[in-house]
Amino acid sequence: MDSWNHACQACGSPSNPLTKLSLGKDFFGRPYDRLSPSSDQNPRWYCTSCSLHKHFQRDFRDILAEFDKLRSGFASELSKADEFRRASLRLHEIMTILNAPQQTSTLLNNRDVTVLMERLNTLTMPV
Ligand SMILES: [Zn+2]
Repeated sequence: MDSWNHACQACGSPSNPLTKLSLGKDFFGRPYDRLSPSSDQNPRWYCTSCSLHKHFQRDFRDILAEFDKLRSGFASELSKADEFRRASLRLHEIMTILNAPQQTSTLLNNRDVTVLMERLNTLTMPV
């Protein structure tokens, strides 16, 4: 069994219990492409707070990628009404948690989430 006894691989905190996290699928339930440089195939060790933020970061990144596709006229998961709604709710949830005290993330910037939410709101929700 491999273990990581040093520190959180995101914030470097040595004091928290660490969780081994591997992101096998993206926000839209698709398995990660091994050739994709942004994929998170390798498990890493994170503290409780960072493992939560890591999921946020993944969801944010996946939603942003689909948003860009939609804007450029390509096929996008966000052209499905259900996925669009789910993505909006997820961004809202991420924002709410990141805005709470003590939730500053080393992985994701509040401002980026706000901007994406605003941009998403300018689109008409697909029917
Ligand atoms: Zn951490």
